[in-house]
Amino acid sequence: MSNPAERPTLPHGPGNAGAGIDTRSGGMQNSGTTRGCVADIKRFAVHDGPGIRTTLFLKGCSLACSWCHNPETISPSPEIGFLRGRCTGCGRCVTACPEGAHVVRDGAHVFERAACVACGRCVAACFYGALEYYGREMSVSEAAAAVLEDRTFYAMSGGGCTLSGGEPLLQADFCAALCARLGQTGIHRAVDTAGAVPWAAFEAVLPHTDLFLYDVKHLDDQAHRAHTGASNALIIENLQRLSRQGVPIEVRIPLVPGFNDSNDALQAFGSCLAGLPNLTRVRLLPFHALARSKYAAIGRSDTMPATQPPDAAAWAAAADVLRRCGLDVRGPAPRPGGSVV
Ligand code: SF4
Ligand code: SF4
Repeated sequence: MSNPAERPTLPHGPGNAGAGIDTRSGGMQNSGTTRGCVADIKRFAVHDGPGIRTTLFLKGCSLACSWCHNPETISPSPEIGFLRGRCTGCGRCVTACPEGAHVVRDGAHVFERAACVACGRCVAACFYGALEYYGREMSVSEAAAAVLEDRTFYAMSGGGCTLSGGEPLLQADFCAALCARLGQTGIHRAVDTAGAVPWAAFEAVLPHTDLFLYDVKHLDDQAHRAHTGASNALIIENLQRLSRQGVPIEVRIPLVPGFNDSNDALQAFGSCLAGLPNLTRVRLLPFHALARSKYAAIGRSDTMPATQPPDAAAWAAAADVLRRCGLDVRGPAPRPGGSVV
């Protein structure tokens, strides 16, 4: 697990913009710019706020949770995902790459990641979806246009746009400008944050946000540090402050067996959250290991715990502890067969 304190602030990326992907800035942190670095856009999301939503996953995070389901958003820099199982060995990326980062050695494709400058040329050259680009730079207008493509579905379902990550509030100026733009067209706006950012980042987005999805991982600081690389003090302080601002908050707890599913840990959540102003509900999100392959795809060490996901009974028992504290607890709950609903 990397130490967030050692992470650089969002850097300026390579100047070589290829394949229609502009990577010149690579992302930025509250620098007054209105361009953002977006790892991915998910359409028709149903667990990221009310209704059908378009979720933008922004690059960069101030935590490093061992179970992270979106490891491609942790680094603030653009990066290439190589999905080995889809690679046919056609060699088109070898020809496309000006840095010699793709090579065929003994008949097998090898990605020399250290040579890659994330220009994106190989991604455009690959016909088989074996290469993915995480970290597209977007203007506010481009991002707003991408969101508005699905506005019919928002109107039908009461949905909207969610800014997630990573930690979207590391790019607070971009989030504020995008939410302000979407607000002009009446789109519902949610910000999904882990809260480990200066309060000024919340101040930037508060006037333009309809709902905060606020992740809380553990209330024991030592356990929090061990599994996220950072203290929870700022997260709790910001949550309490945010709760006094008059904007609805949905707290989201990742239920990770062996980390925060003990009775003591759940009781601590209940004590902290019960009675919090403007808290609408608590969403209990079961840990799963489906993202494990993403770590290999981006060349990151796999930090995911070896633990099994919580089953339906374990989720229900955890939810029951929170409900007895007076909280409105929602799923997605695991199905008896293992999937989530
Ligand atoms: S272009 Fe795609 S499929 Fe072809 S060798 Fe490169 S990664 Fe594999
Ligand atoms: S491997 Fe990196 S440097 Fe080479 S084409 Fe792909 S993105 Fe550009």
